[in-house]
Amino acid sequence: MGRACCTHAGQLHPEADIFGQLASGKRLQGGPFRRYKDTLKLNLKQCGISVDSLSSAALNRTAWRSQCHEATDDIEEARVAALEHKRAVRKGSVSSHNTGAWACDRCKKICQSRIGLYAHQRTHR
Ligand SMILES: [Zn+2]
Repeated sequence: MGRACCTHAGQLHPEADIFGQLASGKRLQGGPFRRYKDTLKLNLKQCGISVDSLSSAALNRTAWRSQCHEATDDIEEARVAALEHKRAVRKGSVSSHNTGAWACDRCKKICQSRIGLYAHQRTHR
């Protein structure tokens, strides 16, 4: 009752306003629409390229191109590896819960999946 005392007469409680929007509102299932800028930042992050150093890194065109090609090749390699693993799990040749199978050869960290190991190994570069 303490919170109800704070509202003025004839005015709805702020929480009632919020939950009222949740009941009648409609949000997109995958999240809000992304702008081109957001997608670009997401792709750069996946490639391991800092957004802050983007303009200076792109000045050296040769290095920039090789960096972009290297990053996209790595992403494609990881994507294919993840799909192959997913298929192997689906076909039953590999257990989905094979803990300890994905160990880093540098620091012996145990990863839950091949893609997780790949993402971890990127930190050693
Ligand atoms: Zn490691």
